[in-house]
Amino acid sequence: MAGEPQDDCLFCKIVAGHIPATIVRETETTVAFRDINPQAPTHVLVIPKAHYENAAALGASAPQLAADVLAETQAVADEEKLDSYRVVFNTGGGAGQTVWHAHAHVLGGRGLEWPPG
Ligand code: ADP
Repeated sequence: MAGEPQDDCLFCKIVAGHIPATIVRETETTVAFRDINPQAPTHVLVIPKAHYENAAALGASAPQLAADVLAETQAVADEEKLDSYRVVFNTGGGAGQTVWHAHAHVLGGRGLEWPPG
């Protein structure tokens, strides 16, 4: 069911503390942790604790939670002292999504080109 923890979900396991992560922020509804394969000096993932398969499902089913995630991307950027940064939700395999638990990438600390690859 939407929002329920999934046994086979990597990020649900991080939320539950069953897989270690370098957590930088946590709220009642969200967790932010460093990406294991950073693509920039700051590369933090912000996830809802509840399981939604991607940003589209999150936004459609739980818009307040989507807003919580977005607010946390700003909080991470502030903590990391990023003047400029990028927030990315890869949504669907064609866009490069590989983990099927909604997450925002917060990338910063270097120049970022546009358009992305
Ligand atoms: P992509 O792998 O193309 O970036 P996603 O947008 O689905 O696809 O992002 C998943 C992200 O999760 C990747 O950046 C990956 O490095 C990161 N990741 C995978 N496993 C872990 C982990 N155990 N701890 C932290 N980050 C992880």
